[in-house]
Amino acid sequence: MKIDLMPYAYFQGDIVPVEQATVSIATHALQYGTGAFAGIRGYMDATGESINIIRLVDHTKRLMDSAKLLRAELALDAEGVAKVIEDLTLKNNPQSDIYIRPFIYKSAIELSPRLKDVESDLAIYQIPFGDYFAMDRPLKFFVSAWVRSTDNNIPSRGKITGAYINSAFAKDQAEEAGCDDALMLNSDGKVSEASGANFFIVRNGRLATSPTTGDILEGITRRTVLLFAEQLGVPVDERPIDRSELYIADEAFVCGTGAQVAVVGEIDGRKVGDGQRGPVTKQLQEKFFDMVRGKDKAHEHFLTRVPIHG
Ligand code: PMP
Repeated sequence: MKIDLMPYAYFQGDIVPVEQATVSIATHALQYGTGAFAGIRGYMDATGESINIIRLVDHTKRLMDSAKLLRAELALDAEGVAKVIEDLTLKNNPQSDIYIRPFIYKSAIELSPRLKDVESDLAIYQIPFGDYFAMDRPLKFFVSAWVRSTDNNIPSRGKITGAYINSAFAKDQAEEAGCDDALMLNSDGKVSEASGANFFIVRNGRLATSPTTGDILEGITRRTVLLFAEQLGVPVDERPIDRSELYIADEAFVCGTGAQVAVVGEIDGRKVGDGQRGPVTKQLQEKFFDMVRGKDKAHEHFLTRVPIHG
C-alpha cells in the first residue's frame, strides 16, 4: 500500500515540511528495529466540521509504555504527544479521514544493538487514509505457519518496529495464498491475532478473544469492542482460542485502528457461519462507526475533535 504524506510532519521538536524530516542511513532504529509506533485514526465527523481523533491519549499512553520498554527518554509525556498531534492535525487541515503515525526511535548513530543510553527522538507524520481492509465483503483469512513472536522474544505489549517483521512474513504468505490476512498462533498453539489487528469469534452467543497474556498487542479497538459488547449485553470471554474453534465459530471479526471492525467470512477455506456478517458483528460494527463519526453522544469522550478550517 503506497501512501501520500500530508505536507507537515513533526520532527526533532518542531512541525516542519515533511520533506525536511529525514534521518541518516546509520540511524540505530533503522539498523536494529529499535523503534515503536502508534497508529491512530482521525475520522471526518458526520457534520464535516471536525476530524475526530479516536482515543488519542490512550494511544499516546501506549506509545509511552513502548518508550519505557525501549528505555527511550523523551521530552514529552503522553499528554504532550497528544497535544502535538492535535496541533499537527490543525496545521495539515485534512479534508478526509486520516491516519496518524507517531513513532519513537533510537536516533543515535551508534553501532551496538543495545537499548540503554542510546539517544531517542519522536517523529509524527500523517496520511489521508481510507479502509485498510475491504469493508464491502467478508474477508478471507488463513492460519499462518509463522508463529506469533512471544512476549519473551519481543515484548508483545509494545508496538515495536522490529517486531513487525513477524507480521510481514505472515502477511506475505497470506496474500500469496489468495487471502486478505493471516491469523497467527502463539507458541502454545493458541490463536493470538492477525498481522495487524486483534481477533474475535462468536460461539453460541458468546464473544471470545485471546487474553492480553496470549502474545497479542493490547489493542485499543479491542478495548472499545469489549466495552461495547458489555453495553449490548453480549457475554465476553477473554480466553485462549483453539484453532479448531475457528472452523466451527458462528461469527468472526478482526478489529484495530487500521482494520476498524471487519468481518471475517472464511478461515482456512472454511466458511465462518454462513460466510456473511453475523448479528453480533453487525451490532458492534454499527456502534463503532457511529462512535467514530461523532454520532454517539455517550462516547463523545473517545473523540478529540480538531476543527476543519477553510
Ligand atoms: N495487533 C497488532 C499486531 C497491531 O499491529 C494492531 C494495530 N495497532 C492491533 C493489534 C490493534 O491495535 P489497536 O486497536 O490499538 O490499533
